[in-house]
Amino acid sequence: MPLGAETLVIASHNPGKVREIAELVAPFGVAVKSAGELGLPEPEETGRTFAENAGLKARASAEGAGLPALADDSGLAVTALGGRPGIYSARWAGPDKDFRQAMERVERALRAANGGDGGDRSACFVCALTLAWPDGRSRTFQGQVDGTLTYPPRGAHGFGYDPMFVPAGHAITFGEMDPAAKHAMSHRARAFEQLVDAVFRT
Ligand code: IMP
Repeated sequence: MPLGAETLVIASHNPGKVREIAELVAPFGVAVKSAGELGLPEPEETGRTFAENAGLKARASAEGAGLPALADDSGLAVTALGGRPGIYSARWAGPDKDFRQAMERVERALRAANGGDGGDRSACFVCALTLAWPDGRSRTFQGQVDGTLTYPPRGAHGFGYDPMFVPAGHAITFGEMDPAAKHAMSHRARAFEQLVDAVFRT
């Protein structure tokens, strides 16, 4: 399903995400504009899943701009917590976006669920990407990376919950890992690969 337009709207007001996506699509000759640049409103994230929230954001921008729009929604899902914080991953950091506090909150909840040390400490990062067209069509791609949670947090790279997440098959956290190594295996990279294969390489 080709893009069918020379410009893609990135349905995000986060400059870091916009830059990352712009770099990804640059080799395919697609120009990029952000929802912020176009003055498009940010819809409320009222979905129950990553995919629903990515869809809400992508559709709102595609309709508002009359151009294809791409949105992502991501977070950390902890098995013993029934998938929490999940779509609320950013909100667990509070208004000050304090991820030290968010990681402590995850650790406390995990210990309560497991009755102390040990137990099931598995978790995954999930990323849903939705590409929506102004005619109402959309495609969603999802990527996941599995791992376990360690505490206290380790490493100064990355962001969010990276310092407590040890990807499966590795001994170091995403926070300790060279950023290029994280980007090669991350949930976001896996979702992007599928998008590129389905849309930009057709
Ligand atoms: P979103 O920007 O609304 O999709 O929120 C995603 C939230 O999930 C971020 O604020 C982080 O807390 C968390 N998250 C998503 N991806 C990652 C990652 O690669 N590393 C660490 N935390 C992440």
